[in-house]
Amino acid sequence: MVTLKEALLLPKQEQNALKAIIQNKAQQNIELNAYIDFSDDKYEGVPILIKDNINVKDWQITCASKILQGYIAPYNANVIERLRANGMSAFGRANMDEFAMGSTTESSCYGRTKNPKNSACVPGGSSGGSAAAVAGGLAIAALGSDTGGSIRQPAGYCGCVGLKPTYGRVSRYGLIAYSSSLDQIGPITQNVEDCAILFDMISGADKKDSTCANLKPSETFKKLDRERGFKIGVLRDFLKDASPTIAKAYEDTIKILEANGHEIIPKKMIDTSFHISTYYILCTAEASSNLARFDGIRFGHRIEGKNLKDVYINTRTNGFGNEVKNRILLGSFVLSSGYYDAYYLKAQKMRALIKQQYEEIFSDVDLILCPVAPNVAPKFRSSQSPLEMYLSDIYTIGANLAGLPAICLPVGESKEGLPIGMQLIGRAFEEQNILDAAFGLEYQLQ
Ligand code: GLN
Repeated sequence: MVTLKEALLLPKQEQNALKAIIQNKAQQNIELNAYIDFSDDKYEGVPILIKDNINVKDWQITCASKILQGYIAPYNANVIERLRANGMSAFGRANMDEFAMGSTTESSCYGRTKNPKNSACVPGGSSGGSAAAVAGGLAIAALGSDTGGSIRQPAGYCGCVGLKPTYGRVSRYGLIAYSSSLDQIGPITQNVEDCAILFDMISGADKKDSTCANLKPSETFKKLDRERGFKIGVLRDFLKDASPTIAKAYEDTIKILEANGHEIIPKKMIDTSFHISTYYILCTAEASSNLARFDGIRFGHRIEGKNLKDVYINTRTNGFGNEVKNRILLGSFVLSSGYYDAYYLKAQKMRALIKQQYEEIFSDVDLILCPVAPNVAPKFRSSQSPLEMYLSDIYTIGANLAGLPAICLPVGESKEGLPIGMQLIGRAFEEQNILDAAFGLEYQLQ
């Protein structure tokens, strides 16, 4: 598949022909199930695949949930307007975990997406469709969303590049909320240059999102510099959770970075085990509130009942999948008056502490190197419990809790030929640093 950088240099006519080429390829590879459909916003330009939780006016949008089936987006997300203004055209709805809750894309009401490198394995999630399509040569580039790793982890499992921008760098207007204080939209691409290009297109202030920083769109691609040297913090204590394959890839990456002129500085993070509990208390609390609006009255699917309460119960019982129900229950519990202090309030305090720990580490390093996941892509659910799935988020959720930018890029393969991803985390609003270092690392690895 042509890269985004190459596609931008094509004459308009050839750019417009790309949609038919992509659709053809995706249809020949239909068993991958990366695309929900081939919705087309009919604008001219380079086609970009869109995760099914980002509103494109007049397209169906469902978050891969039965409860939203038939619902048509009434407006464009800010990122869609930004893409159009930059000569891009939204094309195709990418499969995902229901309401972006998950790490495998198995909870989609459209069926699971497969990993393009090995169809017995998960593509990761929740942006599994976006990553599988890009890594499998079925999309030039895609948008995903990342609440606790949903851009970086599937990019890592499938072998492509994914960036979670700083919280507030990209407008969330028109992204269906999962956990509003953690969600960010970001690019999933074939390489680091494309990642910078797409990030520059979608970043920047938006009056319609009050949490969006008042900054101009970024200009990282223009300034991309693979020669810059950084102080890179490494957290070897983190490796206790990693498989030997990942731990070895981490050490190998450190060597390459060192040989490339970066200064490696060992750092410590106090007990990371509470990252998971903090994240799952906060995200489920926010999700239980955000998902209250899907009651069968205003959006999508409705199952009638004897009275209004029955309509709510029937619609939600039938419309939501098990994972989403689990999280609504957990979130409602931690917010309930008897448990608020014990769980929600405590988790808020833990979040502040985690943020503070990152700040301390960043007082004398520019970047942190970290694995993306403890393992390469696992086989489908049969071998994984929900708790195991939650625990595998250990390396990605920190950047969301602290609001920091983080990129994932492929650094090698396991014996079985499954991709291994590594993450570079930066200070808030310093995407340029992580992109420059990733660009250098990608070059060294070629
Ligand atoms: N796996 C995490 C979760 O299930 C992250 C999902 C995401 O980033 N949307 O919540």
